[in-house]
Amino acid sequence: MQPLTNSVGENGTNTVSDVALVQAILVKTQRPATRNAPAAPFLASYDGVSGNATVAAIRDFQNQYVFVSPDGQQSAPNNNATAGLVGQGDATWTALVQRVPAAFRNMRVLAGGRTVYVQATDPQLQAKITAANALIFAPAFRTRVNACINRMHALHGIAIGVCRQGDRRNFQTQYDLLTNGRNVTRAGPGESNHNFGQAVDLGFEGLRWLRSDGRVVENEDSWLHQLDPQQTVNAEALRFWEALRTVGTSAQVGAFRGPAADRPHLQNWNDANVSMTVRLAAHLTRSGNMQWGRGRGTYTCDLGFGGQLYAVGTAAQIWNNQATVTAQMLTQARAGRAAAAAAGGQRPGMPPVQPQFPGRQPGPGNQPPGGNQGPVTQADVTAMQRELRRQFELADTNWQNWTP
Ligand SMILES: [Zn+2]
Repeated sequence: MQPLTNSVGENGTNTVSDVALVQAILVKTQRPATRNAPAAPFLASYDGVSGNATVAAIRDFQNQYVFVSPDGQQSAPNNNATAGLVGQGDATWTALVQRVPAAFRNMRVLAGGRTVYVQATDPQLQAKITAANALIFAPAFRTRVNACINRMHALHGIAIGVCRQGDRRNFQTQYDLLTNGRNVTRAGPGESNHNFGQAVDLGFEGLRWLRSDGRVVENEDSWLHQLDPQQTVNAEALRFWEALRTVGTSAQVGAFRGPAADRPHLQNWNDANVSMTVRLAAHLTRSGNMQWGRGRGTYTCDLGFGGQLYAVGTAAQIWNNQATVTAQMLTQARAGRAAAAAAGGQRPGMPPVQPQFPGRQPGPGNQPPGGNQGPVTQADVTAMQRELRRQFELADTNWQNWTP
């Protein structure tokens, strides 16, 4: 059992979390049946507030189990107990821990909180670690994920686990999350730390906490929907999220928070002043055979022609084969390359054209689609849209080489 931080009951300190823990024990512990009354819990419910019913329950418990002589005589003195009060490690506390049913002998409560929960067992912790190890993370980050799960159990007795789709997401999964209408993310394919194994969503699935009447919640989900059905600002739920994020960002774990509203999210690096879209443009350039940049609300790309960058749309548009390529854009890109070739690799007033794909032989997929001859057709535009999608696929495949 988690020890008390202070006394509970009549004239006690009555810190809310201490009161909740003592009350929960009294709710789960039965008073023996008498000739006049059946067995019943010492206390009907718990709420973290020590009132008359709580003090009466403590006295009732003490009369049964504390102020009793070895031969069963009631009203016996006990020098290590105070009537109506539970002290840290005193005889009343010891008796409470002894008398509560074994299944509840390891209950806990977060500092300042009033939600009592049952400590996760070692096998429950191991199951979470095994599940996490079967998921995909960048190797350096996997170490942090495991450290976070272990430390959350060591400090708080909670076995957290990775939420569904909380590990590495490929670009298609990210696209699906963005477009499913549930407002889960604002990041498009390639724009989330999750796409590169650099982030994790951790949650509380299986947390066994006690409702006010002592019933144990056996089906809690990652997001604490039982504790916080509306997912609004529920102080008790926030306490659990805060504990998770404090552990995650501790020196022993070393991860970083993402956006404040993204409660389960931890990541491998601090991106507070970094643009994920600019990072994606750089990763696209490294992964494929086009030059990429970032404009206002759009990616820019040289379309493989080695010159000017053109606005080609959002990550979601490009992934969906709907890059904002136009026939005029392609015509201009071709003309730019032709002029550069005529000038011997130089365009007037422009820096020298870079060798387009250093060290690579031109080949299928390594040439701007649509060729360089004749008027641009709609088929050329469609081919370029598909080629831009293919560049995103190359970046997706190359996820392990993404750099912050
Ligand atoms: Zn996340």
